[in-house]
Amino acid sequence: MSLTTPELQQRSLAAVWHPCTQMARAERVPPLPIQRGEGAWLYDFDGHRYFDANSSWWVNLFGHADAQLNAAIKQQLDTLPHVMLAGCTHEPAVRLAERLSARTGGALGHVFFASDGASAVEIAVKQSFHSWRNLGHAEKREFVCLKNGYHGETIGALAVTDVAIFRDAYDPLLMRAHIALSPDSRKGIEGQVKALAAMRALLEERSGQIAAVIIEPLVQGAAGMVMHSPAYLRALRAMTREFNVHLIADEIAVGCGRTGTFFAWEQADAEWPDFVLLSKGITGGTLPLSLVLTTETIYRAFWSEDVTRGFLHSHSYTGNALACAAANAVLDRFDAGQLERNAAQSKMLAAAFAPLAEDTRVEHLRQRGLILAFDVKEAPERFAEKFHLAARKHELLIRPIGHTVYLMPPYLIGPATASFLANAVTNTLNEVLADAA
Ligand SMILES: *Cc1c(COP(=O)(O)O)cnc(C)c1O
Repeated sequence: MSLTTPELQQRSLAAVWHPCTQMARAERVPPLPIQRGEGAWLYDFDGHRYFDANSSWWVNLFGHADAQLNAAIKQQLDTLPHVMLAGCTHEPAVRLAERLSARTGGALGHVFFASDGASAVEIAVKQSFHSWRNLGHAEKREFVCLKNGYHGETIGALAVTDVAIFRDAYDPLLMRAHIALSPDSRKGIEGQVKALAAMRALLEERSGQIAAVIIEPLVQGAAGMVMHSPAYLRALRAMTREFNVHLIADEIAVGCGRTGTFFAWEQADAEWPDFVLLSKGITGGTLPLSLVLTTETIYRAFWSEDVTRGFLHSHSYTGNALACAAANAVLDRFDAGQLERNAAQSKMLAAAFAPLAEDTRVEHLRQRGLILAFDVKEAPERFAEKFHLAARKHELLIRPIGHTVYLMPPYLIGPATASFLANAVTNTLNEVLADAA
């Protein structure tokens, strides 16, 4: 029973509702059936291969079908695939929680598990509000997110997300959040100063009602890889302290070594946030898992003989043992020098893409660790889709955001891979812009 590409495309269009997709357009641009993955490469049914330049929506760290991760999952599968985490516990969850806490020097812990990023955001939002309420500050129930910030698409997470295309249709259903100016580095140091001043003005006025500020440290991913400096984070942490407001660091995209340190927050060189969230890369792109780390202070605010003061939140697959085993295997890689390897890979990527800085068709070439992005100046209509389709012919699977082309590759960059990527991106750009002219 050998499957063909058109057959699988037709069946998929009939049976599957694809995410983030206008299905009427998918009729004309059908999804690409993938047969298997190996390392950074994905293979279709017609013998073509594609470099997974966006790590399958930012989750894949060590390539597809990685032997070490697979072995850890297989071993767990034969021991204990899953048991409920209410009233029971298991070694993979305990060990993972201990190891992550140790990576914050013990500042954060009491790990709460869920299965996807949006749920981790919901958990932090609920914990922040509920901890204030338990402390007698039920009026602190407002949240602040950054302009173009992205924190997921369930109703609570969408309320602290400022990406119009995901948000607008559901706006009537959403809790009201404050949208603060982004410290977008493309606006220079003045932009950062303005963003901090606006945040201060907001906190001066509303801190009595504000529970928390939620941010994506260093890189606002879905905004189009919008970057800011560690100095902003340092100043923001001081400000949230001053005004007695929680800080939630959503490291779902930027955690797990993506920006050069295990947690992006480490680069801030400041007191830890009150909450840190991980998902996506934490299982290396194998199984769904997310988690929320928080402080002893917040944990203690729920400590009581009164059940209703507890955090009674649950998901069926909370702390899934297979996913925790995969995450422990991911941490093994970091215990064995992954950050050093990432630093070398990030330099190779920078060197290979340096010529683009001189290219007059693009601007704002920027990089933080293993995220590299640039904006295309006169991008034609439907640029992202055109670029995505043209890139396939250059063995590249890549999805620009608007007019921003970015790479967030698996941590498998060598000199040859880096120049392959730079050539493939440049050739695709030439083609798409030539067609537009
Ligand atoms: C992807 C993402 C989320 C949502 O995670 P899901 O698993 O897609 O629900 C939240 N925050 C950030 C910063 C993300 O990149």
